[in-house]
Amino acid sequence: VEVPKLARRSVAPQPVAAPAPPPVIMNAPRAPSPVARVPSPKNVPRSYPQQEVSPSNANFAFAEMIRNYRAQIDYRPLGMFDSVNENRISVCVRKRPLNKKEFTKNEVDVITIPSRDITILHQPQTRVDLTKYLDNQKFRFDYSFDEYANNELVYRFTAAPLVKTIFDNGNATCFAYGQTGSGKTHTMGGDFSGKKQNAAMGIYALTARDVFRMLEQPQYRRKDLSVHCAFFEIYGTKTFDLLNEKAELRVLEDKMQKVQVVGLKEEQAMNEGDVLELINKGTLVRTAGTTSANANSSRSHAIFQIILRQGKKVWGKFSLIDLAGNERGQDTRECDRDTRKEGANINQSLLALKECIRGMARNSSHVPFRQSKLTMVLRDSFIGEKSRTVMISMISPGISSSDHTLNTLRYADRVKEMGTDGSGEA
Ligand code: ADP
Ligand code: MG
Repeated sequence: VEVPKLARRSVAPQPVAAPAPPPVIMNAPRAPSPVARVPSPKNVPRSYPQQEVSPSNANFAFAEMIRNYRAQIDYRPLGMFDSVNENRISVCVRKRPLNKKEFTKNEVDVITIPSRDITILHQPQTRVDLTKYLDNQKFRFDYSFDEYANNELVYRFTAAPLVKTIFDNGNATCFAYGQTGSGKTHTMGGDFSGKKQNAAMGIYALTARDVFRMLEQPQYRRKDLSVHCAFFEIYGTKTFDLLNEKAELRVLEDKMQKVQVVGLKEEQAMNEGDVLELINKGTLVRTAGTTSANANSSRSHAIFQIILRQGKKVWGKFSLIDLAGNERGQDTRECDRDTRKEGANINQSLLALKECIRGMARNSSHVPFRQSKLTMVLRDSFIGEKSRTVMISMISPGISSSDHTLNTLRYADRVKEMGTDGSGEA
């Protein structure tokens, strides 16, 4: 039986000098789910886990260069008990494991995550004289999650620290960004590698779980707050209600610049189970009528909201967004006119999103939220001192995804310019 490495990582004895884990209830470690598919070595390595690549592989030369690079790395992955940043805006990267198909195709893994905040893309390059080399592009983010991280670990460092924001009358927002197939829905909606989606292990549900736990605390119990959920989708310029049989919704802005999604259905949830039901219901509606889970969903933004209310008044709002595949924004050369238009729309919304988060970082009173439907419905997320945002940029590990991966990393880098170490040859 393969034990996911995280299991050992999370129970590993802490150094004597290490501070005790913070006594926050929502961060309590639990048994990890068997999410990681890549078998981990028998002993916890302090050396980087290496990929076996056969010499017959067309990319063997690159694989060897990557192996040499990794052999020299001081490997310190993020662990369950590491400290959590309290940033208002946080940008992270999550690398998924190679999937079965990539495994069979002998895909070379070109992503190295040596430590809690560094992500390296080994970009294969060939000189004019045909010699091969790696362009190692190094990026720094708030967190880098490697292929051994499960949703629970990702949650702990991304959405979990934002739960208190909505109890504090703020707006919390969590985006999943990345190429189709990179793990956005897996992270947000839950693991559905099996027959059925295990929504309980997605960030939507983990967030809801902690909202209900927080609600039990005496200082909030007194406030008489209720929990409501909304789930809708933005497809091109149109908005559809996933909790109301895809009814089309209108997005309007009133004189006070308040944006309203007219007719959006909000269901009250009494417990985590109710939320799970709503997630499953909305997910079914989202993917209904399509043969592949990604057929439509990769072209639309899904927005799941957990809304705290005191009476009728909104107390705080947590928006969790499974964004359209960022490669769709490059569909603009596609022959089909509709697909082209769709791509242009997605591109525009992702560019607007980046500008809005940057505006939020500058505390600008001029956030360009009107540039897209997406940023319009999320207007409140970008304003106010109490707003907090986290973006999780998902990346696929394979060599054949490296162009898309570089795009994703560059986008994330511009959302939050933290300074990179530049690139250089190994
Ligand atoms: P996206 O929503 O970005 O298009 P998905 O979440 O649908 O991508 O992921 C594509 C496939 O990869 C799914 O079968 C999913 O279960 C699997 N997958 C994604 N991320 C992980 C991960 N971290 N661990 C294991 N499997 C994953
Ligand atoms: Mg998806």
